[in-house]
Amino acid sequence: MYNELPCDYYNSNPGKRQEENGRFYAKESIMNETQKKAAQMDTDEKVAYARRLIAESDNVVIMAGIGVMMECGALNYDRDTEAYRIEEEYHQCPEEIMSASFYNVRMERFYEFYKKEILSTNLHTTATFPAIEKLQKSGKLKGVLTYNIYGLNKEYEIENVYELDGNIHDNRCSKCQKLFPMEYLRDSKGMPVCDECGGTIRPGIRLHGERMRNDILTDAVNAVSKAEVLLVLGTNLFDNMVKFAVNHYQDNKLILITKHEHFTDKAADLVIHEHVCDIMPKIV
Ligand SMILES: [Zn+2]
Repeated sequence: MYNELPCDYYNSNPGKRQEENGRFYAKESIMNETQKKAAQMDTDEKVAYARRLIAESDNVVIMAGIGVMMECGALNYDRDTEAYRIEEEYHQCPEEIMSASFYNVRMERFYEFYKKEILSTNLHTTATFPAIEKLQKSGKLKGVLTYNIYGLNKEYEIENVYELDGNIHDNRCSKCQKLFPMEYLRDSKGMPVCDECGGTIRPGIRLHGERMRNDILTDAVNAVSKAEVLLVLGTNLFDNMVKFAVNHYQDNKLILITKHEHFTDKAADLVIHEHVCDIMPKIV
């Protein structure tokens, strides 16, 4: 959901920043084989090509962006209309409310927002999820990096999911560490407190301004660096986390599926501008 660069990772891996590959800065004349082929194709041909690249690979990694969640009915607070509504209603922008500093100082206000705007959202899964599960069952899928805080993947047999922003289900008491399900927080009157010790409950998501967990990040980056096919879904390559992950990708089969065009799209090897849930079942 949020876009800070995980600087701690860079600091503990000093070579990485220099190593950032030329993908984002390559001249258009220097196209790789995949890009050259894809440049001549219409959408149907690109879908068939993506299907072939996946069929021929036994190491596929997925990077699922905010677009995948939006297709499930989640709101995107980065959108102007939503941000405006929230500012009107809460007198603060969503990034402020969902930040660690706001949480620490105005916990009651935070929970008012969090319970109503995040935990009470009714989401549905899409055709994307069974498609990912199918890929998992085929043995090709080696990891899924996701911003999905709603844990929708838990309804499917999908392994090695790296929840970069945490999730809404694993909430802990800040004092005794007791775990609480999402429903406990959502249905509590006012601010949720621990029924054992009375401590405040820390939501399981990563708040704005907080670091990404290093263990998750390291595993995610390892998966990306070994991937043959990298499927980037419902986001663009300008997103900092995507950019960070892509900079560790070594191969030339980066398939980007997103409804919204972006100027960085040309850094992908194959781009399909459609809804993720329409395309995923066709390529696995
Ligand atoms: Zn407790």
